Amino acid sequence: MERFTTPIPARLHRLPELALDLWWSWHQDARQLFRALDYPLWRAVAHNAVRLLQAIDPQKLVAAAENPELLARYDRAVAGLDSARTSKGTWWASQSDDINGRAIAYFSAEFALHQSLPIYAGGLGVLAGDHCKEASDLGVPLIGIGFMYPQGYFHQRVSNDGWQEEQYERINWAAAPIRAAITPDGKPCITAVPLGDRTVLVAVWRVNLGRVKLLLLDTDLEENQPWDRDLSARLYGGDRETRIQQEVILGIGGVRVLRAMGITPAVWHLNEGHAAFVALQRIREGLEKGATFDAALEEVRATTVFTTHTPVPAGHDAFPFHLVEKHLAGCWGDLGESRARFLALGEHDSGSGPLFNMTALAMRSASRINAVSQLHGEVTREMWRSMWPDRPVAEIPVGAITNGVHVPTWLSSETTTLLDRYLGADWLEHHDEQALCDRLGEIPDEELWAMRQALRSYLFGFIRERSRQRWTAERVSPNRVVAGGAMLDPEALTIGYARRFAAYKRPELIFTDVERLARILNGANRPVQIVFAGKAHPADDPAKHHLQRVFKRALDPLFAGRIAFIDDYDLHLAHYLVQGCDVWLNNPRKPLEASGTSGMKAAINGVPHLSIGDGWWAEGYNGTNGWLIESQTNPDDHDATDAADADALYRLLEDVVVPAFYDRDARGVPTRWMQVVREAMRSNLPRFSSRRMLKDYIQQMYLPAARDGQSRG
Ligand SMILES: *Cc1c(COP(=O)(O)O)cnc(C)c1O
Repeated sequence: MERFTTPIPARLHRLPELALDLWWSWHQDARQLFRALDYPLWRAVAHNAVRLLQAIDPQKLVAAAENPELLARYDRAVAGLDSARTSKGTWWASQSDDINGRAIAYFSAEFALHQSLPIYAGGLGVLAGDHCKEASDLGVPLIGIGFMYPQGYFHQRVSNDGWQEEQYERINWAAAPIRAAITPDGKPCITAVPLGDRTVLVAVWRVNLGRVKLLLLDTDLEENQPWDRDLSARLYGGDRETRIQQEVILGIGGVRVLRAMGITPAVWHLNEGHAAFVALQRIREGLEKGATFDAALEEVRATTVFTTHTPVPAGHDAFPFHLVEKHLAGCWGDLGESRARFLALGEHDSGSGPLFNMTALAMRSASRINAVSQLHGEVTREMWRSMWPDRPVAEIPVGAITNGVHVPTWLSSETTTLLDRYLGADWLEHHDEQALCDRLGEIPDEELWAMRQALRSYLFGFIRERSRQRWTAERVSPNRVVAGGAMLDPEALTIGYARRFAAYKRPELIFTDVERLARILNGANRPVQIVFAGKAHPADDPAKHHLQRVFKRALDPLFAGRIAFIDDYDLHLAHYLVQGCDVWLNNPRKPLEASGTSGMKAAINGVPHLSIGDGWWAEGYNGTNGWLIESQTNPDDHDATDAADADALYRLLEDVVVPAFYDRDARGVPTRWMQVVREAMRSNLPRFSSRRMLKDYIQQMYLPAARDGQSRG
C-alpha cells in the first residue's frame, strides 16, 4: 500500500491493514496497540491509526517488533480481525441459514464511525454507525451505502461573543481509513447516474468494519461539471435543490453501485427517508424486466424496510413536484404511464398543500416500518395516520424498535476492565442478557466510585487541554478560555448537556430562574457545574441564538465559572462527556425527542440520566436508575410547560440529586449515589445496547422481509 512509506517490520506487516479497518476502534487489543506505539503522537493525531502509521518514527516500530507484550497484543488483534471477518459460528449464522449468502443493504445519509471520518452530523449518524459495528459483531453480512462528503460536516468555533462559526476542512484522503472500491472484475467502481438532463459520474469509496463494508458515493470527479462535483461536498450543506440532487444520487446511484459491485441484497433498509429513491430505481428495474407497475412495487415493498427518526415536521424532506420532475427527468426514460403512479407514491399534504414527501414515499415502498422508541411509535402512527385513512390509529402498520448504543464503542476502558473482573472475561459476548448484567450488583461501592472519579478526571484533563490548545495555538480571547471551562472544578458534581442545539430541545430551560440556578450551583461545600456542548445546524439561526446565550451565561459572574461551553462537539468529545460527567441532562419538549441516544451512552458508564420522560427515557426510567423530570401541564401551552418543567428540574436537583452526590460515608464514598450509578448500568446496559436493537431488527424486520422476498422467487 503506497500510502504508507514508513517501513513496517515484517513481524508487524499487517499493521496497515489493521489501521485501514475501523474494526480496530472498538477492540481493546488493537486500540491499546496503536496507543502504545507512540502515545504522544496517538493523542496528536486524535486516534487516527492511519495517520499514526504515516507519521511514526520508524525506530519506534523496530522497537515494537521486539517488545513481547506489544507483539502479543498485535497477534491477538490480527487474529480477532480475521475471526470477525470470516468466522462461521456467528449469532447471525445461527438464525438465518435459509437466506445465507445474501446481503442486507443499509442506506443512510450519514454514518458516525470514528472522528477521523467526519461524515456525520449527529444522532442519526451515530445510530447508523453503531448499527453497522454491531452487525459486524453479530456476523450480519450488512453493506452500508452513503456519501463520502469531501468536506464532511463543519468544525465548530465560536466568536468572542459566542456566535457559531462553521469551518469546513477538506478531508485528506490519504489519511482517512478508506480506499477505492473495486468491482468484481478488478476496476475502480465508477457509476453513471442520470440527474436531470445530464449524467453524473459517481466514484465509490470503501470503508471496512470487520465483516461489514460501507460503500460511500462521491461526485467529486474531474469528469463532472464543477457544480456536480460539489453535490457531495458537504453533509446537509446546501439548499433544497442540492438536497434533492443528493438524494437522487444516494437512492438511484446507490442501487446502481450495488449492481456494479455484483451485490444482490436480500433486504433493503432505508434508514430515514433520504434514500427513498431506491424504490424508484428498483421499480424501474422491475418494469424493464417486463413486470407491471403493481407487480414491481409489490416486489420492492416485500423486501424494503424503513425506519423513521423524528416527529419534527422539518425533519421530513418534502419537495415541490416540479423539482422532482426536473431532477428525475433522466430516470423517467422507460417509465411511461408509470411516472404518474410513481409521483403519487410520494404525495403527501402535511398542512401546506401536497408535496413530494420522502417519508411518504418510503412508507408506501416498505412492507415493514418502524419508529425508534415505543413512545415515538405512538407519535408516528398519529402523525402519519392520513396515509391509512381506513384504519384506526392503533392499526397503522408502524412498529417500534427502540434505539441502542454500541457498547464496545461507548463503554470506557475503565468500565470495561471493571466488568471484565465482575462479569467474567467473555461478558461482552452476552452483554444483552439481563441476568448477566444483574451481577453488577456485586461490584463494591468504592471500586465503582474510583471508576467514576477516574472518568471525571479524564474529562477535565481533556477540557483543560482543549482550552490550552485554543489559547496557545489559536490565540482565542480570555473570554473563550473561561467559557471553555478553564475554571471548572474537577471534584464538583458535573451535569452534562450535549446535543444538537435546537429550539425543541430547550437548551436554555435550566436558566428559567437564574437566581435559583445560581443558588444551586454555588451551594456551600456542594458546588454544581454544567458543561454544555453541541452544534447548531448552519441554517438554524434561532438555535445559534440559544447557543450564544448559553455562551454568555458561561461568562456571567453570577454563576462563578461553573458553566462551560465546549466547542466542536463530535464523537471524540462525546466520549469524554458521556463517560466523565456525573449526571446527563435532557429536557426536550415532549414528545419531540424520538429517542435520544447520548443518555444511553452515559448510563452504561454509570452516569445516571436526569430527563423528561420523552424518547427512550419514557420506557427506560424504572424509579431507581436515574431521575424523571415530570410536571402536570397542558402540552399545548408552551410557556406554562416550560415553567413547570424547569421547576420540576430545580426541585430534583435541590432535593434529590445534589444531596445524594454530596452525602459521603467515612471513606468519602457517596453510597446513595452509587446505588443509582449501579442501577443505571445494570438496567440500561443490556436493554439499550445496539446488540438488543439489531437482534430486534433481524427478527422483526430483516428475516421476515428476506423470507417474503424469497417466497416471491
Ligand atoms: C450520541 C451522539 C449524538 C446523539 O445523541 P442525542 O442524545 O440523540 O442528542 C449526537 N452527536 C454526537 C457526537 C453523539 O455522540
